[in-house]
Amino acid sequence: MSTFAPAPADSTAATAEPKFVGTPRKVTAHQTQNEALSFEKSAPGKRGYKLAPLDVPAVDPKTLLGEAARTEPALLPELSEIEIIRHFTRMSTWNYAIDLGMYPLGSCTMKYNPRVNEFVSRIEGIAEAHPYQPESLSQGALSILKDLEGCLLEITGMDAITLQPAAGAHGEFTGILLVRAYHQSKGNPRRTVIIPDSAHGTNPATAAVCGYDVVNLKSNADGGVDLEALRALVDEDTAALMLTNPSTIGVFENEIAAVAEILHAKGALLYMDGANMNALVGKTRPGDFGVDVMHLNLHKTFSTPHGGGGPGSGPVACKAILEPFLPTPVVQTDGAGIHHLVYDRPQSVGRVRMFYGNFGMFVRALAYILANGPDGLRQTTEDAVLNANYIRAKLEDLYDLPYKTPSMHEVVFSDRRQTRNGIKTGDIAKRLIDYGFHPYTTSFPLIVPGALMIEPTESESREELDLFVDAMRQIAREAEENPAVILAAPHSTRISRLDETGAARKPILRWKGPPASTPLTPDDSPAREW
Ligand SMILES: *Cc1c(COP(=O)(O)O)cnc(C)c1O
Repeated sequence: MSTFAPAPADSTAATAEPKFVGTPRKVTAHQTQNEALSFEKSAPGKRGYKLAPLDVPAVDPKTLLGEAARTEPALLPELSEIEIIRHFTRMSTWNYAIDLGMYPLGSCTMKYNPRVNEFVSRIEGIAEAHPYQPESLSQGALSILKDLEGCLLEITGMDAITLQPAAGAHGEFTGILLVRAYHQSKGNPRRTVIIPDSAHGTNPATAAVCGYDVVNLKSNADGGVDLEALRALVDEDTAALMLTNPSTIGVFENEIAAVAEILHAKGALLYMDGANMNALVGKTRPGDFGVDVMHLNLHKTFSTPHGGGGPGSGPVACKAILEPFLPTPVVQTDGAGIHHLVYDRPQSVGRVRMFYGNFGMFVRALAYILANGPDGLRQTTEDAVLNANYIRAKLEDLYDLPYKTPSMHEVVFSDRRQTRNGIKTGDIAKRLIDYGFHPYTTSFPLIVPGALMIEPTESESREELDLFVDAMRQIAREAEENPAVILAAPHSTRISRLDETGAARKPILRWKGPPASTPLTPDDSPAREW
């Protein structure tokens, strides 16, 4: 019996029936193969290399290492070169990637990373630069830092910046440390940080880690800040408001200037979570609308690799009042145009990252910014917003749209209509995999029960967006006519529904083999648990 309903005519989705009965060891209905662990594939004596015969006297390891010398060889997999190559190549095909198709994971801005960024970051003098090189030999690297800082200050409208933080949440941490140091310098670090219920989950976590009590602020019916509620909350104990803008429902905070005024009147600061700058770059600048400190996610807005693809980078930009507290070192340029790393900054919060941050990401982000230029970046923003609104317009007759406020870079639906047939957002997301797309973000933000959070980014063409819309419309039809097919999805993957609770609570993080002295054969390898 086919569990796979017919695909829309112009969809690229697979339509094949599962072709295999039972559970063959190697072949699955999925185009990629099963793959054992390298330890399980190991056989004694296999080698992936050949060495020339020893032409110097052999030395007993004990002479060199004493007690530390091994008495038995380490239990490492023994494989031939082609087996290793195939092992990793096969596993690489199990993954979904932005290079494979659309990745509409809301809040994550999974845009395409242009190859020119990779090319530039691999230029020898850049890739091989050592962080301990003296300043005089690092002027090129330092000017990359300086140029990127300049671009990001122009884009954000802020006065000063640190590139050190290694991710968005790390940037939040650094930003709130600046806030704390600022208030402390006035004699009192204050006690609370106000956070709207539409904020990203990292915001309250950051405030708590920095020693603040979190005060929750309810959103108004449009998904924005309720100014009256804010006025009632802000007092001399308020250190800052952390505002995600555009918020996690993809809504721009229209009252942002008024929000800033309310805070500033009580000496509190406005922190903006700028991870969603993909909707603002080239259109408006946080520095111009009252923000005191913010972070950016280079790995979102500025197209550096993301998630498993590379380290993140979360620069923090601030107004001049916070500049004395920035992490050290800062890059300063003297009258002769020579860049210096300056450590002597008595009010600094100290280092938040070794060396200068994830330098390779700075190179990629700068390449991206310069390749696009101001007009290109503005176009990027407009395309990102247009794409999200295109999806909204094409799906809002079938999916519930809880906030009618204009969408920015992402659109958030709810599963309210589909739940009538027992279908939840997670089920729709899993079915989407069968149609060849990475799922959108499910069940977040929390202010929308059963959320479907979709962020296409500017990377997608009209053709790809239409395929996505087709898939989503088809799934909405299936929810009415054949909910069972959705509840059992995905049908086209190697593994279908995982035990998500088990995976989170009892993860199996390492392979436990037999004792080192037991020879490994494929037959006595322990049962694999996935
Ligand atoms: C992604 C994101 C973060 C966290 O960034 P990381 O780099 O994952 O730490 C914070 N806030 C918002 C709004 C985000 O989208």
